[in-house]
Amino acid sequence: MIPRLPALTIDELTSRLGSAARARAVVRWLYGTAPLPQALPAAVPGVAAAAWRTLRAATPWNPPLVRERQASADGTTKYALAFGATLVEAVRIPSPRRSTVCVSSQSGCTRRCVFCATRTLGFGRHLRADEMVLQVMLAAAEAPPEAPVRNVVFMGMGEPMDNLGEVLRAVRVLTQSPAPLLRARSITVSTSGVLPGMRRFLRESPASLALSLHATTDDVRARLVPHGRIWPIAALMALLREDAARHPRRECFVEYVLCAGVNDADADADRLLRLLDGIGARVNLIPYNAFPGSDLAPPPSARVLAFQARLAAAGRRAFIRWPRGRAIAAACGQLALATATAE
Ligand code: SAH
Repeated sequence: MIPRLPALTIDELTSRLGSAARARAVVRWLYGTAPLPQALPAAVPGVAAAAWRTLRAATPWNPPLVRERQASADGTTKYALAFGATLVEAVRIPSPRRSTVCVSSQSGCTRRCVFCATRTLGFGRHLRADEMVLQVMLAAAEAPPEAPVRNVVFMGMGEPMDNLGEVLRAVRVLTQSPAPLLRARSITVSTSGVLPGMRRFLRESPASLALSLHATTDDVRARLVPHGRIWPIAALMALLREDAARHPRRECFVEYVLCAGVNDADADADRLLRLLDGIGARVNLIPYNAFPGSDLAPPPSARVLAFQARLAAAGRRAFIRWPRGRAIAAACGQLALATATAE
């Protein structure tokens, strides 16, 4: 079995179709067709008929079925998508001149972070690279013309480092010419801190990395992120520091979900500053988004702002991700198929 069409690289298409010009013609057709085609056509302009027929027979075409599309007032759109019997969510987030797509790498998740709604689903299955690329294609086909998709974040359902081969392939395809050609630094893969996967990712991919850190002591982290017991904060930081020296141009982010009374004290901000010494990471502070059945709460806005100010005063870039799409449960950590499971 070869990868499905949306996951084939230009080089792979070239060897299957017999020429680079044909490979480019297929990719142009694939990304130039909106809405996503429901079936592969009998012929693609610029591609020899026999070569296309052989390729078409070897790669089944399974675009996702849009089970539900929910838009919030700010334009953030959450998609509930079915790949066969597998349900996942993707989110399109518009800003004035460009859109970001938040992609799922698994249905459910292999990890059990206590503050994340996806945990309540358990683990369904790993998504294939073509299923990740199709999420981007679908969102790109629906993006407003004045705000085309320019950023992709692997921050939907799932732990990308537990499905790394497929994630790396998806990143490779999304950054290849002629299309969709996103810049490697415009793709961010977010991890809950699976150290061996991070090591391989940093070695093999030029894309940006986001580490979901959430705590400044191993005890607090292990309470929030159970596998924090396996890979301590010091080891995660040592890897980021090493990579900052090796790839100084790579974008690196540290995600920090602020939970009232758990990790939001001034002392936490001070420890965070020390941990990040020698790492050029930007910090994204995410006020905790509540979901039914969880007993954590977001800090008051004044505390969130004070935490940010403390980091900024020490020269650390820190942004607050005030929730977008909270009303439709599309904000960070709220992807748990509320719509699909309610049926
Ligand atoms: N498993 C990966 C990819 C998911 S990314 C990871 O953990 O990084 C989703 C981002 O949203 C992560 O930074 C995650 O920690 C954060 N998040 C999860 N649940 C949240 C919640 N309830 N409120 C705010 N942010 C949350």
